[in-house]
Amino acid sequence: MQKITELSGTINKILCDATAGITEVPQGADLCPFCEPSHRLRRHGIYRRTSVTADAVFRICIQRLLCAATGKTVSILPDFLLPRKQHVIPVVAAFFLAFALQDLSLAASMVYATTIYPSRRKGTHWIRCLLRNEPAVRAYLASVLPRRRIPQSEAAPPPSARSGFITRARARLKPLLDLLRNGFRSLQDAFRFHSRNLHIRFARALL
Ligand SMILES: [Zn+2]
Repeated sequence: MQKITELSGTINKILCDATAGITEVPQGADLCPFCEPSHRLRRHGIYRRTSVTADAVFRICIQRLLCAATGKTVSILPDFLLPRKQHVIPVVAAFFLAFALQDLSLAASMVYATTIYPSRRKGTHWIRCLLRNEPAVRAYLASVLPRRRIPQSEAAPPPSARSGFITRARARLKPLLDLLRNGFRSLQDAFRFHSRNLHIRFARALL
């Protein structure tokens, strides 16, 4: 399983360290999620994964921990990464900001977010992933946000069969993104926080 964990330092510093094989395991992140009572896990090698920022590609090390009692492993994923997604959260958040809140085209939104592999197909994939998770994300937000802060108008408008994918996606994304960034300085801060907490509480990825 993966544990999404807050690490100290800037994203670039953590990525550079992880590329050089330096991996941090913060206090508490090394506690066994499988055993009761819990115990500390021991380091158990690394695996490599690709991480893409707005202007660079990193091949980073992800620390793996082992529970010797059960033989199960835990990977420590920095909280600016999404499981099974190569682009870091600031890139993904910038895309959604441009596409759904600034009404830029798919292509322009990708170029706004990153110079690395800015394909429309990838943007479309992110949109489908987030919208597929919408019920889980809303259930999670309802459990963490004070009720009075969730406006009545949050319910997604019924999609019209005649409108295109872009129009229908924006209509659903706008209220969802407004809910997510409620109380945060930026969408990327909100994505990072909620991605980590959604994963901790419901073992689900944000997208
Ligand atoms: Zn254990």
